[in-house]
Amino acid sequence: MSRDFIHPERYAKSAELYAQALRVIPGGVNSTARAAFSGWEPHPIFADHAQGSTLVDVDGNEYIDYLLGLGPMLLGHRPEAITNAVSERILSAGTVFAMPTAPEIELAQAVVDAIPSVESVRIVNTGTEGVLYGLRLARAYTGRTKVIRFEGQYHGFSDGIYWSKHPDLSLAGSDARPIALAQGPGVPAEMGESLIIAQWNDLDMIERIFAENPDQIAAVITEPIMCNTGCILPREGYLEGLREITSRYGAVLIFDEVITGFRIALGGAQAKLGVTPDLTVMAKGLGGGFPVAALGGKREIMDLASDGRVSIAGTYSGNTIAVSAALASLRHLSTQVSYEDLYRRSDRLREGLGQLMRDKSIEGSVVGMGPVYQVWFADAEIHNYRDAARHSRPDLFRIWWEEMLERGVLFHPGHLENLFLSFAHSDADIDATLERADASLDALLARTRTNA
Ligand code: PMP
Repeated sequence: MSRDFIHPERYAKSAELYAQALRVIPGGVNSTARAAFSGWEPHPIFADHAQGSTLVDVDGNEYIDYLLGLGPMLLGHRPEAITNAVSERILSAGTVFAMPTAPEIELAQAVVDAIPSVESVRIVNTGTEGVLYGLRLARAYTGRTKVIRFEGQYHGFSDGIYWSKHPDLSLAGSDARPIALAQGPGVPAEMGESLIIAQWNDLDMIERIFAENPDQIAAVITEPIMCNTGCILPREGYLEGLREITSRYGAVLIFDEVITGFRIALGGAQAKLGVTPDLTVMAKGLGGGFPVAALGGKREIMDLASDGRVSIAGTYSGNTIAVSAALASLRHLSTQVSYEDLYRRSDRLREGLGQLMRDKSIEGSVVGMGPVYQVWFADAEIHNYRDAARHSRPDLFRIWWEEMLERGVLFHPGHLENLFLSFAHSDADIDATLERADASLDALLARTRTNA
């Protein structure tokens, strides 16, 4: 389905830059999530600059930004305290030494203090790396190979785990026994043998998988709130069940808190929901927009990296940009902001959007927790990826996206992505967004009636 903007002339400069980019950058973008085929049809919109909750594109269009860099801009764009701390550190110290630095200790302590299950922590660069190392540690710790991962989740792009993100259901096996599907050619097929694919929010399935694979499962990896198939909340008792089953079978429970960490609460979803994993991957919320990630957890498991039995490496791991950004960001999050206010504003927007949909008899719901959520246009409740694939309406989501974009509200055009709020979003932003949503949903109804 090829799509255009409502007013393509408003994106003329972006179109021009896209044509130039295509000559030297495959697909014109540096990440899959920004590509035209990922929803940004007819072409990606090029950003010019941003401040707080506002983003301006190269054509001068101004948006209230709920894309937020896909999550890192938890403090809004260009948060002064973080930008200043990083600039100062670069100018006064440098960037990369291949030697440890004192602030790394302070940062590790701040992460240990913030995240309930983390006793020690390694700083890395991306969520992908954090997951890769977490799986390696879990396999080394248990002496087992298999990992349970859930259909519809995303844990980065490394070959061992880039499987079954949003598979075509006609190829993905039965509901009871999903088949592992590589994210595309180039991912070695043999690697699928080390994965067992499960549907989320179904504890019976996990019980059965463990019973069928005794002493083979090294780890279960999951987002505590599923944020890579829109937003899906865990059913009551689900995370507790995962905790209990993995403990009973001696498998490592890994929470991928790349999106939820420092966002759902300072202590991540695990603090908010009261379930503690063995290992935690953190990234986007950690660095105030700078590239930094972390893998932390039980000392007993992390200690496998102490003497080189398990290698966690990286020329850039713990570089001064990453460390000063994360330190400044954690200091800011723990002393300068109110999560209560963030939730109040987020809830107001989420509930306001839900109310608008009900008022207009639009089938669907707005699902999320605090500052991360998604609008589902769907004729059933969504509890896992297959529900989303069968019941949600990407065509309606696209219209909603076009109408909101037209009115100066930005988020990812993919219906399986999320809307993010930052600490920089104001009550006035929420009011304006709700007003624009009201008009956009009316326009959506008008367009779908005309097309019917
Ligand atoms: N895990 C989750 C849950 C994610 O959402 C992402 C990125 N969207 C990743 C891992 C990968 O992180 P990165 O892009 O920093 O490698």
